[in-house]
Formats: sequence, structure tokens, C-alpha cells
Amino acid sequence: MGVDAPEPLWLGQRVVAILETGLRTATYKLATLMALIEHCIENMPERTDDVLSVPIPDLAHRVLEIYWQQVRPFDGHDLRQSTQPRARILIATNALREAAGGTHTGASLDIARLRASVAYRNAINEITLCLAQQPLHRLQKLPGSSTSDPFLYDDSFLHDQVSRSTLRAHGDAIELKPGVAHGLARLAGLLKPALEIMWVDDVRRMNKFLYEKVPDVAGHLFGRERTALTAVRESFKEVFGPHCFYCGTHLPVNNPVDHVLPWSLVGIDGLANLVLACARCNGDKSGALPAVSIVDRVLERDRDILEQVASEIQWPTQHDRVVAAALGIYRVQPAGVPTWSAYRQTERLDISFPPSWT
Ligand SMILES: [Zn+2]
Repeated sequence: MGVDAPEPLWLGQRVVAILETGLRTATYKLATLMALIEHCIENMPERTDDVLSVPIPDLAHRVLEIYWQQVRPFDGHDLRQSTQPRARILIATNALREAAGGTHTGASLDIARLRASVAYRNAINEITLCLAQQPLHRLQKLPGSSTSDPFLYDDSFLHDQVSRSTLRAHGDAIELKPGVAHGLARLAGLLKPALEIMWVDDVRRMNKFLYEKVPDVAGHLFGRERTALTAVRESFKEVFGPHCFYCGTHLPVNNPVDHVLPWSLVGIDGLANLVLACARCNGDKSGALPAVSIVDRVLERDRDILEQVASEIQWPTQHDRVVAAALGIYRVQPAGVPTWSAYRQTERLDISFPPSWT
């Protein structure tokens, strides 16, 4: 143990190098990497040089979550995300959207999963197979090369035609090499924004009409448009009162709903990660990592009340996901890193594990 664990910087350079070599024919590799990074944050192994088994269906769910927002028509167009005539992951995502009531209902993936469980299962199966045959199989190969340099995971059982039964024989999972899970989680804050930039570039390249109008492609792709949060805002005001979670100020109508663990780091939309905020605190906090005391306070909220809101507005709390992500995020931060504690205030990270939320 230990000798094999890669330096995070080396790992990051390798990941960026495979992405920057050659034009991508689809955004699938980017989606796969984003899903892998989030999976690592939420399933951090105990020791820094541990391996981590990643179920491919779990990755498929995360990939589906990313494309779920993105398949909505943009400016009247369906965005292309592949240069191939049949974009399998988008087709699977759209099929689930249709089964759950169409693209215009604004239903979250969790709701769609409840409403159309058979269609959801079909989508996960198709995306699992597609990930294994395409991005997971090709991620560690340079374009035009048939040999792989498996620095993230062993991909020798993956190929263009790999079957579902072969995948099952391999436990339906890939195994990240020693140290890769910790390394990817540590790099999340650097890699995820870089992946988003590459993604927007790819979509602009694949959709020529975007060059002319230059609308907010990034906002459309990565969910900055949060109109759906209105239901959360109104319910939270009823049960918690119309006050900013951070500074306590009385809130006007249309105040922001803030993601406590930043949306740019982990895309968790569950109620357990959401609070009412004033525009001042929300803008000042932005993508910053919150102080641990804030996470303590948000996780101490009455879980029965959150569950009640969740069933009223059909919106999951994702409490366990928030706890797991918080553990993953804080464990890999260097001691003394500044965290946001209040409007124009920061405090240095000083945390002993396990914290109170384990
Ligand atoms: Zn405030």
C-alpha cells in the first residue's frame, strides 16, 4: 500500500491531458468524469490510498441527473451533444422524460423515477451499457490508440460490444486504483469548473446556431436557472419563518434559495442542502465552502419537518447524501483553508474527525 497512490497533482494533469487531446465526438467523457468525481466525494474511502469500487449503474444515475436538465429545449432547439446520428444517452434520457410526462413538466429526476419506474430502470440499463461501451472504455486511451494506460481503473474487460452479462460478471462496477478516489475528490474544486468550460465549448461547437446569439449556454447546461426552487422557498418560509438562514434578516418575496454545499462542487438539490437566504448573504457566499459550524446548523434542522415538506412538495431531502458529501469535501481540505462563516467573514478550517454529523 502507499507506493501506488498517485500524487493528486499528477492525477489532475493526467486527467486534463486525456481531455485536451483530440476533438471530442460527444460530451459523454466529461459527464463520466463529473459523475466519478461526485461519486468519490460522496463515497470517500477511509484511507487515502484505498481503492474504491464504483457501481456503473450508480454512475449511470449521476450521468442521467446531469443530462436531465440539459435535454430541455434551449431557445427552441434541442441541443446536440454528440456528432453521432444516434446519441444513446440523450435518447434514453428523453425516453424517460416522455414516460414521466414530457420535457415541459419541470419534474425532477426523483419524481420521474417514482412516476415511471419501468422507464427509469430501462434508462439506467441503457446508460450503464453505453458508459461501459463508450466513455469508460475509451477514457484512458488516447485518440487513435488502441492501447490503454489504465491509471484510474482497470478497463481490460470493457470494449465496444461489451454485454450486460459480462459487466455483471465483473460485479457491474469499475474499481478505482489506490489513491484515485481521494485524489479526484481533492481535485474536485479545480476539475469540475474546468469540465464545465470544456462542456460548454463542445456544445457550442456541435450547435452552430449558438455562435450567432451567444445566449447563456452554461446557465442552461449546469442548472443556474433555478425557477423550480419556488416551491421550496414558499414551504420553507411557512415552516422556518421568512428569515435568512445565515444572518437572520427578514426576507422579501423572491429571495434566493441557497445551496449550503456549493452547487459548483456537488450538485445536491435535496432539501437538506437548501436554506432560505437574503440576496446579500447568497451573493457573498457564492461558490465558497461554508464554515463547518454552518453545516452543523443546517444538519441539525428538524428532520421530521423536512420530511413533511418533502412529502408535501414531492421533493427529496437527500439528508444522507448531504452528510456523505460534507464528510468527503471537508476531509480533503488542507487545514487552515478559509471558509465562509457570514457576510464578509471567513474563518480558517479547523476540524477534527469525526464531526458531529457522522
Ligand atoms: Zn443574510
